[in-house]
Amino acid sequence: MSELKLVVCHECDLICHEVTLDRGEAACCPRCRAKLCQHGSATLDQTLALACTTAILFFIMNTFPLMSLHLQQNTRETSLFGAALAMWDREMHLLCLLVVLTTIVAPALQIGIEIYILGHIKWGKDLKTTSWPLVVLRKLRPWSMVEVFMLGLLVSLVKLKDLADIIVGPAFWSCAALILVSAIMGSMLTPRNVWTWSHQRRSDATL
Ligand SMILES: [Zn+2]
Repeated sequence: MSELKLVVCHECDLICHEVTLDRGEAACCPRCRAKLCQHGSATLDQTLALACTTAILFFIMNTFPLMSLHLQQNTRETSLFGAALAMWDREMHLLCLLVVLTTIVAPALQIGIEIYILGHIKWGKDLKTTSWPLVVLRKLRPWSMVEVFMLGLLVSLVKLKDLADIIVGPAFWSCAALILVSAIMGSMLTPRNVWTWSHQRRSDATL
């Protein structure tokens, strides 16, 4: 007898029967229309590769210059941490702490937890699914504001372009790529996918 699978809607807690989907199809909750699952979702290896990509992009964003300003024979490079330090030196302590928290600390923790979750499923010996990293990840995501920082950078670029020659650095492009890759990661690293990958790993281990 085939096993009857049930899915609980994450929005309204309605219990629904899981249906078989073809490529490109998605199943929605009949009561609140929230998307329950979608066929063709990412594999564990693809998501892990993307998580490693976000770590590399984050490293480049924090170690290389964001932009260089060339004004009257003087060239000055600015990195992300350097910009935060400059705010601290100008007595803007709260703003400095907010920039460090939302563009360095929160994204670093987020990427670290994402890699921990995926690495635990891929290589972990204890195959029990733990929920705390997913809970922490959900609470951290609103604090990661690299997009807002990028918007501020673009505004400053437009304002400064008439005053000085600006050369955009590798960290700028890494920041732009990180926003894109993080958005894709967010859609792949869902609680449902984590549960599916853990279940597959447990099934493979018991064979
Ligand atoms: Zn629902």
